[in-house]
Amino acid sequence: MILDGKLVGQKVLEGVRAGVARLRERTGVTPGLAVVLVGGDPASQVYVGSKKRTAATVGIASPDYVYPEGLSRERLLALIDQLNADPGIHGILLQLPLPKGLDEDEAVARLAPAKDVDGLTPTNLGRLLGGAPVMVPCTPAGCLEMLDHYGAALTGAEAVVVGRSRLVGKPLAQLLLGRHATVTMCHTRTRDLAAHTRRADVLCVAAGRPGMITGDMVKPGAWVIDVGVNRLPTGKLAGDVDRASVEPVAKGLTPVPGGVGPMTIAMLMRNTLLAAERQLGLV
Ligand code: NAP
Repeated sequence: MILDGKLVGQKVLEGVRAGVARLRERTGVTPGLAVVLVGGDPASQVYVGSKKRTAATVGIASPDYVYPEGLSRERLLALIDQLNADPGIHGILLQLPLPKGLDEDEAVARLAPAKDVDGLTPTNLGRLLGGAPVMVPCTPAGCLEMLDHYGAALTGAEAVVVGRSRLVGKPLAQLLLGRHATVTMCHTRTRDLAAHTRRADVLCVAAGRPGMITGDMVKPGAWVIDVGVNRLPTGKLAGDVDRASVEPVAKGLTPVPGGVGPMTIAMLMRNTLLAAERQLGLV
């Protein structure tokens, strides 16, 4: 079964669209997502473009703040302070990576946790680790939403996460743990990766290595979530999972493109609505 991120993402977006309309009716407020892009990274420009387009479709305003590569640390931090204080802005999307010379940790930590719709500030990651998340990072949240939509049983399941980044692997492992899966995290120093992946009822891969998970590494009947987005020399996009060999073995597999990517954007919209509702004291 192919797990259709476009379809599930659309379902999430319908809920957000209805929520935005209700919010506007009750308060007259339109949720605002500030989009901050520094430098000319082509992939970031594509991501920001599709986030803005999606925001428009659900009624979220997304003013952008675009700066060339040489933006100084002081100006970036001053911009974040200004957006933190702006009552018309409910969420701030600081598109990563930042150009060399800007400290990502410092910039992310400067975001007001209430407006941190990517869930990456130390406060929001700490809340997730504490088991009471307030704002969950969008990609891991999208993976869970997808598993839930298709009815994957998580309680007691063996879940294996390949990749331990702050953005994906670590928060995803926490979410799975919160849902009572038994979680193993793998990374570049893991001995015998296949021995772990073959045990997984739920296998989530976020390594950035095209086709690294092949059918022989997957337990028959497993749910496989492929987070990887890799640009091949041919220009095509590929995931971390070798679809041809894994599809016949897995119970469900997310395609690339059309799997986790659209879910990530949908969850960003949901987080922005939630942030606005909280800031307006509605939830
Ligand atoms: P990252 O920061 O580069 O982290 C990659 C992780 O994978 C690291 O923990 C690394 O281990 C591990 N890893 C790399 N090669 C491995 C191997 N051969 N065996 C086992 N572990 C390996 O990447 P990221 O930001 O988490 O992103 C991962 C992938 O997801 C990328 O392709 C990215 O483009 C994609 N992504 C997609 C979305 C989406 O919306 N679809 C969102 C975010 C990211 P070490 O820690 O030991 O180095």
